Amino acid sequence: MPPNTSWVSYSLFIRVKKTQNITVGRFGRFEFTAGNYIYSGSALRNILARLNRHLRKEKKLRWHIDYLLDAETVEIFKIVVSTTPECELVAAGGGTIIVPGFGASDCRSGCGSHLRRL
Ligand SMILES: [Zn+2]
Repeated sequence: MPPNTSWVSYSLFIRVKKTQNITVGRFGRFEFTAGNYIYSGSALRNILARLNRHLRKEKKLRWHIDYLLDAETVEIFKIVVSTTPECELVAAGGGTIIVPGFGASDCRSGCGSHLRRL
């Protein structure tokens, strides 16, 4: 599938293979129960570069999601790109909030968290 310029958002399906405490930068340390998670984000430009960045292990940790993906037993197992805003993906994805405010610093839609446990 060729890159589509109308893609504005994406969901990462993430597997946490074992329950562990992960420090999310200055945000704090949280317990992530083993299981599957969904994270939705946006990239208005060059979404493929953003996704490649998420898939890369070596990088300067910047966003909340970087800290989660940096953990040894955490991996992305599926990526979905979309033309709808990230907050709509969060709403459609369901799941429960584990870390309030995760990835939602700029959220104006009241998602509560852009990371949910499925
Ligand atoms: Zn949101």
